[in-house]
Amino acid sequence: MPINRTTATAHELSWRENALCAQTGPDFFFPDPGSSTREAKRLCAACDGREACLEYALSHDERFGVWGGLSEKERYRLRREGR
Ligand code: SF4
Repeated sequence: MPINRTTATAHELSWRENALCAQTGPDFFFPDPGSSTREAKRLCAACDGREACLEYALSHDERFGVWGGLSEKERYRLRREGR
């Protein structure tokens, strides 16, 4: 996922080193409205940084795209339920 590297710390970004989405590009992870997120979630399921990625997205209130295997709606639900 694209990250604002000017504000994120090195620790926050360490999980990005082996991120599978960095090898595939953002298209799967920011699908057009109504398009499938299945391929992005399949890659996330195999990604070593999945938990850290999801934590990052939740703590930085990332609203768009698939992060850590969850869509924006799923992350919204998780935040609403208090994680
Ligand atoms: S969990 Fe998914 S979105 Fe996050 S770094 Fe891995 S492949 Fe990318």
